[in-house]
Amino acid sequence: MSDAVTTTGIHTPGAHTPGTHDTARTELSAFTDALRDGTLDVVDLTTPLSSATPALRLPAPFVNLIDFSLEEVSAYNEPGPFWRHNNIHTGEHIGTHVDAPIHWVTGRDGHDVSQIPVTRLIAPAAVMDLRAQVAADPDYLLTVTDVEEWEQTHGRLTDGVWLLLRTGWETRGHSATEFLNTDDNGSHTPGVDVDCARWLATERPVAGLGVETVGVDAGLAGGFDPAFPVHNFFLGNDKYGLTSLRNLGRLPATGAVIVVSPLPIVGGTGSPARVLAIVDSHTASVDSHTAS
Ligand SMILES: [Zn+2]
Repeated sequence: MSDAVTTTGIHTPGAHTPGTHDTARTELSAFTDALRDGTLDVVDLTTPLSSATPALRLPAPFVNLIDFSLEEVSAYNEPGPFWRHNNIHTGEHIGTHVDAPIHWVTGRDGHDVSQIPVTRLIAPAAVMDLRAQVAADPDYLLTVTDVEEWEQTHGRLTDGVWLLLRTGWETRGHSATEFLNTDDNGSHTPGVDVDCARWLATERPVAGLGVETVGVDAGLAGGFDPAFPVHNFFLGNDKYGLTSLRNLGRLPATGAVIVVSPLPIVGGTGSPARVLAIVDSHTASVDSHTAS
């Protein structure tokens, strides 16, 4: 496969001076070659979407979205003898999904999910590992100090980066009970404290926040001031949310690129999304060895 790399992007000598178009073609060819020969790996960060996918459960008097379901219309039978197809029924904010600015009252004049600039949906990823803190306290909240300490090691959060919180919560994904972790006081899932949510949304040029949990805010964030601070500050500052991620352990702290693909629902406040990460296969395998 190595000659696939060396034969790409070759210009006919002397034909013309390579310009911007040639450079772009060379870089894209090198990229697709690296995917094909395994130099780069693609990691699926998406939770499979089915009627069993855990979804947020708001307490009364709030009204919940419907879960995802498939409704069979035909299956190679009388309604469609040669084909099978289904209707899908789902809330916007089910499974791995994007929160668009208009999801929150603070972002009500902002982008709907179809209007999010696509250039912000392919971006570098910064991964913070909070598994130890969350194992000790499922209500753990990310602080400004946590982020500043991470930046001392890995560098300052760069323009357009998606900040992804690795909490270990994905290991609970097989059980809605464990995933939502609810008792009489509410849902106990990790998140971000008020100061850090405000600071990230206003002092760091991140595109959005991605989490393993069912929502971008902590389970108890309805009682914070302001309530649901990540929603409040991120969506109100043209930043986005991304939930129910998996396989963050296969990403390095920096260096991965994620591709976030919500459906372009006109007027939509969010959408289920396929989320892929492109990683250097060497750094990915090193991390997966140390993570298990
Ligand atoms: Zn949502």
